[in-house]
Amino acid sequence: MITLRKNIAEMAGYVPGFQPEDAASYIKLNTNENPYPPSPQVIDAIAKEAGEGLRRYPDAASRLAREEAGKLYGFDPSWVIMANGSDEVLNNLIRAFAGEGDEIAYIHPSYSYYGTLAEIQGARVRTFGLTERFEPVGIPERYDARLFFLTNPNAPLGFTYSQRYIAELAGRLSGVLVVDEAYADFAAENSLDLVRSLDNVVVTRTFSKSYSLAGMRLGMAIARPEVIAALNKIRDHYNLDRLAQSAAAAALKDQDYFLGCVARIKETRDWFSAELEKIGFGVIPSSGNYVFATAADRDGARIYQGLYERRILVRHFTDPCLSQGVRISIGNKEEMELTVQALREIGTGR
Ligand code: PMP
Repeated sequence: MITLRKNIAEMAGYVPGFQPEDAASYIKLNTNENPYPPSPQVIDAIAKEAGEGLRRYPDAASRLAREEAGKLYGFDPSWVIMANGSDEVLNNLIRAFAGEGDEIAYIHPSYSYYGTLAEIQGARVRTFGLTERFEPVGIPERYDARLFFLTNPNAPLGFTYSQRYIAELAGRLSGVLVVDEAYADFAAENSLDLVRSLDNVVVTRTFSKSYSLAGMRLGMAIARPEVIAALNKIRDHYNLDRLAQSAAAAALKDQDYFLGCVARIKETRDWFSAELEKIGFGVIPSSGNYVFATAADRDGARIYQGLYERRILVRHFTDPCLSQGVRISIGNKEEMELTVQALREIGTGR
């Protein structure tokens, strides 16, 4: 007989978005990946690193990548930690701040993986819902959760909170406010200034979306050096391999390429949203690289199925507050034109 910890035995585990084996035979718009390849300079940097030197351990401090991030965002590298995907740093934030029985909180709907990570740790989870106008409901005036995760832009809905709201929320918390900016590169604003001005704000970022590096597993956090020092104690000491470190540094360096891809995705997103509205779908204005679309009959499963039959993969969530629609990642223009055509055929259900 094996004896698991009770919370592990009882938890369900996270189910990531479907990755089909024959991905190339689908229009794959289900996991918010980037339709464009990584920068050629990133591919070069990885190729250069993929040689004899791999017999050596990587730099345990991911120094070059952190310096590049610091230069780009205007922080000393002591304010930056690199991670094996932003999921790693989210996990380590919970390990650093929330012990068994301590409370962590997040908005529902947002990224449900925070809840999974809390369950592993044995922390308690409290979620707060949203009004019709996407205002969080019921957060106490003074709130002592150890960690509050705010996904901004919200995933999967795509709306953003104002910086004023985020600063106000940080002021109400005795614990740490983690602003998960997985999609902030597609938005007009971010909370890096709040990291500078408020001592309990942490920002997390990923290279999976805007930098086209989901397959490389790269993320980071930007926070006060005390927080970074704590996270450094917890992480695997060689959490980024040599290829990942050189990819991260090269990706951050090639801002021209990055900005070009992001601009194209934003343009396609805004075009696609307008087209969906023209054919009668409800679309929440999005600041991410995805849109949440709802048909008149509020049957998201029907839309998912109709698109699946046309070999277009999107994400449908069965959760009652999301089941009325589907989340559609923004692909290239041609993919989105085909998706508009398919949705026209599938219809709004009225
Ligand atoms: N935060 C949010 C809101 C996400 O949607 C994702 C991707 N599923 C992540 C974090 C994790 O990203 P990464 O690939 O860097 O682990």
